Amino acid sequence: MKPVIALVGRPNVGKSTLFNRLTRSRDAIVADFAGLTRDRHYGNGKQGKHEYIVIDTGGFEPTAESGIYKEMAKQTRQAVAEADVVIFVVDARGGVSAQDHDIGNYLRRLGKPCVLAANKAEGMHDGQQLVEFFELGLGEVHAVSAAHGQGVRTLVDLALAPLNLPDEPEEAADGEPGVIRLAVAGRPNVGKSTLINTWLGEERLVAFDMPGTTRDAISVPFERHGQRFELIDTAGLRRRGKVFEAIEKFSVVKTLQAIEGANVVLLLLDATQGVTDQDAHIAGYILESGRAVVVAINKWDAVDAYQRELVQRSIETRLPFLKFAALHFISAKKRQGIGPLWGAIAQAHKAAMCKMSTPVLTRLLLEAVQFQSPKRSGMFRPKMRYAHQGGMNPPIIVIHGNSLEHVTETYKRFLEGRFRKEFDLTGTPLRIEMRTSA
Ligand code: GDP
Ligand code: GDP
Repeated sequence: MKPVIALVGRPNVGKSTLFNRLTRSRDAIVADFAGLTRDRHYGNGKQGKHEYIVIDTGGFEPTAESGIYKEMAKQTRQAVAEADVVIFVVDARGGVSAQDHDIGNYLRRLGKPCVLAANKAEGMHDGQQLVEFFELGLGEVHAVSAAHGQGVRTLVDLALAPLNLPDEPEEAADGEPGVIRLAVAGRPNVGKSTLINTWLGEERLVAFDMPGTTRDAISVPFERHGQRFELIDTAGLRRRGKVFEAIEKFSVVKTLQAIEGANVVLLLLDATQGVTDQDAHIAGYILESGRAVVVAINKWDAVDAYQRELVQRSIETRLPFLKFAALHFISAKKRQGIGPLWGAIAQAHKAAMCKMSTPVLTRLLLEAVQFQSPKRSGMFRPKMRYAHQGGMNPPIIVIHGNSLEHVTETYKRFLEGRFRKEFDLTGTPLRIEMRTSA
């Protein structure tokens, strides 16, 4: 599982700037769970071989007693609770403030690994200026400039060091062969626990022992019609007798980690609410992760024909990027429409693991080019020569040729359509990469 870094500090010290810096290495994966978490932003970052999740918190005033600052303090405490390590950001130019002391005291008592970063330190060659930050009692202070990217790599190294990450990160999507790793994702109250209990209460689901699940105690292995599954927890499930119940509040971090660890994600929506911002953020994150997806619209029993129409339309307009996924209308509570989900999950998994041979891919590519060749761009006309498969879950098709950096997004979508038609890829995103030689 990816480690989680929380950025904490008072307003205006440069947390968002640092957040952007830390998450820039892979573009646009910023999942902004506004609505639920107002001021918390979640993003993925990568340094060297290590991937991590960063949480950007709002301004933190641990002693705030009312209003928005109290709410922000609560949000920050939650983010810190979910983090493996905290980067405490202070303003190198502003010096130590009373608020910094409050935050420092809070973090010290917490006992979590914590790295102190003095931001806006560009051009400050004199270490003397930073000496006063020692009084925060958090050890050494590290000069950085988020705006200029100075000291940021070292800061990440320092933050990750206490976590003793393995040199070779485990391939999350692999797991046991023959086992589909499934995550049920969705915002609070869409019906995740209800659905999972409906499933796990079915007699046909046989729990089996799987090596490795003790380490990762929050996953539930089971079997259905001979297919083995591992349900990855997103809801903080604990077994109580025969029933699983959600013991924790909804956790964005857990959701993101479960998505990363899954082969297939069942995205659960609530028909009575339509598609909300938060649904769209979670969906966007699933897409970025490359995992296969099945979309289930729950509580279908509770909406009338008019509302059904509205929900269907909101899916088309707000989640157009999930067009490749199967849509199911279900009622977890009334056990309606649940059975067909298994087929859809198995299909999405099959698609995600699809094997495509180089000769077939190349033939399809050349046929597509013959049907419609890529547009010339100035002096360059992209020339496509052959294609091979570069990965699974998600399937990646690598196209080789010349001047391929001039291939337009529209043309890539045209190719994607062609490939999708040939291989049954319902349920999985497909990535197309261009590799130009000279
Ligand atoms: P946040 O409220 O802690 O998230 O702070 P922001 O990231 O919004 O930054 C507050 C202000 O500080 C903005 O005007 C930034 O441009 C500025 N800032 C951020 N990082 C740096 C830095 O490294 N050097 C300087 N000089 N300014 C910075
Ligand atoms: P979670 O937070 O996503 O795990 O959601 P829960 O499973 O706790 O469900 C939230 C609420 O929605 C509960 O009151 C459930 O009884 C209700 N609920 C769940 N599934 C359905 C359904 O299919 N139809 C209706 N009408 N209510 C449902």
